[in-house]
Amino acid sequence: MQILSGYPIAQKILKQLKSTIKKQGIKIGLAAILVGNDPASLLYINLKEKAAKEIGINFKKYLFPTTTKEKKVIGLIQNLNCQKQIQGIIIQLPLPKHLDENNILSVLDPKKDVDGISPLNLGKMILGNNGILPATALAILKLVESTKIPLSGKHIVIIGRSIIVGKPTALLFFLQKNTTVTLCHSYTQNLENYTNEADILISAVGKPGFINASMVKKGVVVIDAGINKVGNKIIGDVDFENVKRKVKALSPVPGGVGPVTVAMLLANTLRAARLLRKR
Ligand code: NDP
Repeated sequence: MQILSGYPIAQKILKQLKSTIKKQGIKIGLAAILVGNDPASLLYINLKEKAAKEIGINFKKYLFPTTTKEKKVIGLIQNLNCQKQIQGIIIQLPLPKHLDENNILSVLDPKKDVDGISPLNLGKMILGNNGILPATALAILKLVESTKIPLSGKHIVIIGRSIIVGKPTALLFFLQKNTTVTLCHSYTQNLENYTNEADILISAVGKPGFINASMVKKGVVVIDAGINKVGNKIIGDVDFENVKRKVKALSPVPGGVGPVTVAMLLANTLRAARLLRKR
């Protein structure tokens, strides 16, 4: 069984980014907005800050309490859209329930949308244009590609259909890799029937131990995008110890999708900065 560690992949990408930023003397500012205290989001934002600083990107964090009004968040985004020293803006999802995700994402300048989740960038993705692609979807693809398995014609089963993980991952595999994709969600009946059909199974549910050994067929590749805080530990959606006995390759949590997502996000940030500089 191959453990799909994200660290070597992430390190390679970050090293290249650091060297480019230094050589070309590019000044980059990345702003991250977090509303509320979701533990996975907090963990993520801190990892992004650490990695950004290490490669020479100025990182600015805006932390708001859960009760913050939509107007305030939108006002900040509009302000950041206009700031010349900021080339990338992250709106950390999920947002608290009272905030309208669509309203907020539609204010974001697509040129600074380094997560690739604004309406224009997602629309460009569907059309096959060269917009900014969502970082987690890119990270999942990188991990799958690291197995060297030919993807064309394979059946990918994804559990979860959020804007940040499930939907863009499905689109990326379906549109760019000639795979057949099944997208499952909380209303899917007999989920095991689908998961057991997968050549590559991707879980983005956010429930610890959700994928057990009876849900995977022998010899598959499993990518665990889940991040769940249980006590002081971070674990994924996959019952790692039992599932690992059956599969060909499995990404761990922590240390799988997470570090590669951070690296892809920073790669998107450099790309956004270069495009903005050209204008
Ligand atoms: P959401 O809560 O937005 O989405 C969860 C999805 O899981 C929904 O589509 C939901 O279905 C589905 N789901 C919930 N219960 C079931 C069930 N019993 N059977 C089948 N499907 C189910 O979460 P996110 O996509 O934002 O995040 C998912 C996980 O990934 C979290 O742990 C998060 O922390 C992590 N994450 C990881 C990232 C990374 O880079 N590694 C980046 C972002 C998130 P429905 O749509 O019907 O409600």
